[in-house]
Amino acid sequence: MTVPDATVNIARIPVPNPGSALLNFAIDAEACVACLACVRTCPTDAIAVAGEAPLLQIVDELCIRCGQCFAACPHDAVRVGGEIGRALAAAARGDGVLILSPEAAAHFYPATPEQVVNACYEAGFRTVTRGVIGDELVAAEYLRLWEEEAWGTMIRSTDPVVVDTIRARYPELIPYLAPVAIPAVAEARYLKARQGSHFPVIYAGISPPARSPDLHAAITFADLEELFRARGVSVLSQPGYFHRVPEERRRHLSAAGGMPLAMLEEFRHTTGRFRVIRGLDGLAALARAVSVDRLELGFVDMLSYERALDHPLSGPKEELYWRRALLASTEPPRSRIPVVDSTVVASVGAVFAIKPRAIEPDPQVVGTFLDAIGLGPNGRPWDCGACGFATCRRFAEVAALGRATLRQCTPYQERRADEARSAAAVDVLTGLSTYRVLRDRLTYEIERSKRSNERFAVMFLDLDRFKQVNDTYGHEAGNDILRGVAAEVRHAVRASDVAARYGGDEFVVILTRTDLAGAARVGEALRAGIEGVGRRLGYPAGVITVSVGLAEFDPKQTSEHDLLVAADRALYRAKASGRNLVA
Ligand code: SF4
Ligand code: SF4
Ligand code: SF4
Repeated sequence: MTVPDATVNIARIPVPNPGSALLNFAIDAEACVACLACVRTCPTDAIAVAGEAPLLQIVDELCIRCGQCFAACPHDAVRVGGEIGRALAAAARGDGVLILSPEAAAHFYPATPEQVVNACYEAGFRTVTRGVIGDELVAAEYLRLWEEEAWGTMIRSTDPVVVDTIRARYPELIPYLAPVAIPAVAEARYLKARQGSHFPVIYAGISPPARSPDLHAAITFADLEELFRARGVSVLSQPGYFHRVPEERRRHLSAAGGMPLAMLEEFRHTTGRFRVIRGLDGLAALARAVSVDRLELGFVDMLSYERALDHPLSGPKEELYWRRALLASTEPPRSRIPVVDSTVVASVGAVFAIKPRAIEPDPQVVGTFLDAIGLGPNGRPWDCGACGFATCRRFAEVAALGRATLRQCTPYQERRADEARSAAAVDVLTGLSTYRVLRDRLTYEIERSKRSNERFAVMFLDLDRFKQVNDTYGHEAGNDILRGVAAEVRHAVRASDVAARYGGDEFVVILTRTDLAGAARVGEALRAGIEGVGRRLGYPAGVITVSVGLAEFDPKQTSEHDLLVAADRALYRAKASGRNLVA
C-alpha cells in the first residue's frame, strides 16, 4: 500500500471567526405533547424535562447532534436549523464558498445534481463544491498515518457524533482517535488556502462538526431550500447541465465519508485487522477492549450511522435504499489521477480535547429521588420506563442534575394521587373520616335504605363546654382530648359504620342497619366511655363529658335534610337537659 501523491502538507492555517458552524436542535413547545419518545432515544440525556412550560428543552452542551430525537418524535416537534442568516448574507454578498454534500441529490430529488449546483450559483455563491475534496484529503491522511506509525488501534475520527461522544463520555479513547479532521473541515481549510481565508465557507449537509472555527456557517438542506426561496431561485427551473464549469466531483482514492478505498480493500482481504462498528452502542465495549483489556484492534471504522444517508435528518428510514441507489447513480466515474491540487497547503490534522466531564450527580440527592420513587410490588425498583429512562436509577441520576422531574414518574404520581385522596378522606388530628366522606356515605346509606327498606341511625356527639376546657388547659391538651374521644368512638362502632369528625369538637356517626333503640345503646356506651377518657387523661370527674343526639332514617318519610335536622335537635335537647346525656 502506498501513500498517493495527493497527500497535502500539514500546516495549520489560522482562520478567523471561531466558534461557529453548528446545527441547533430545539423542541417546539407548541407542537410537543410531552410523550417523552425523544427522551427515550437521546443517547446523552440531553433532553431536560421541567416541571412547567416549556416542558422539554434540549441542553445544548450535552447534545451531540445525532438526530435521534428528530426521528423519534411522532409530532414533528423537534426543530433542526443551521445558521441560515450567515449563509444568506454570504450568498447575497456573493463571496460565499459552499460545500454542498453529495446527499443533496436525494434531498432535492427530482431535481438533478446539476440543477441543484446551478441553483446554488444562481443564489449567489461564488464557488460550489460537492464535498469530494474533503473525502480525498482525509483518505490520503488516513493512509499516511497508518503507514508512518505502528498503530495498535486507530479509531476513525471523521464522524462528529462519534468524536463528540468519545470526548464527552469515553475520554480514555481519545488517544486512539486518528488525528484527522472531518471531511467538511478538511475541505474548508483547503478551499480557504486555495481561494483566500477571507472567503466564508458554508457547509450544507447532514452532519457538520459542532463549533468548528473553520466553517463560517452550517446549514441543513431544508435551510438551503429556504435560502433558495429567499433569493428567488427555483431549483427545478435550472438547466439540466452545468452552466458553470463544475468544481471537482470525481473521487480518486476515497470512498464516501473519507475512507481510503485501498485501505478498505487491503484490510478486508488480508490482515483482518479492520473492524466495522456502527452505532454509538459499540463505544462502551470498545473503551473496555482498548483501555482495560489492552487489546490491539487495528483500524476501527466507527460511525454513528452506516453512512450519512442513514442519518435521521436524511429522511425516512423506509427510503434508505432508494436514497442509496439514487446517490450511487449520480456518482461520476472515478478519476485515474489525483483530484486534489497538491500544491495547496492545508491542514487535515485534528486535535481532540477532552470535554469537561458532565457534573456527577450527588449520590445523596440520587438516593432522595430513589426513595421518592419507591419500590415496585415485588420489592425491586419499578424500572418501568414510563419516564423515558430505562431504569429508576438512571432517572434519579438525571433528576439529581435538574434535568428531569418526578412529574415524569407514573408510579410516583399515582402514589401521590392516592395519598392526596386519603388525605382528603381522613381527618389529620383524629384519624376519623372527614366531613366529605360523611356526606358521600350518608347519600349512599339513604339510597340503600330506600332500596332495602332497612333503617339506619345517625348520632351527633358534641363535647360539653369544650371551649372552656381549651381555655383552661390549653390547646395541646384539647387536642389530646379530641384524639382520645376519637379513639373511643372508633372503638365503639363497627367496621360497617362511619365515624367522622364534623368540625371542632363535634363528631357524627352513621350506624348502618341500626334502629333508634340500638343507636341509643351505642350512644350510652359512648357517653360513658368518653367520661372514662377524661379520667384516663387525669381530668376531674365531670370535666370531659359529651352530649349525644340521635335520629333514625325512615325510608318512607325522612329526607337527608330532615335526618340531620332531627339529630341536631336531639343533640340540642340533650344539652338543654343538662348535658352528658343521650337524647
Ligand atoms: S440530537 Fe441527539 S443528542 Fe441531541 S437532543 Fe437529540 S437525541 Fe439528544
Ligand atoms: S417526542 Fe419529544 S418533542 Fe416530540 S412530542 Fe414527544 S416529548 Fe415532545
Ligand atoms: S418508576 Fe418512575 S423513575 Fe422508575 S422507571 Fe418508572 S417512571 Fe421511571
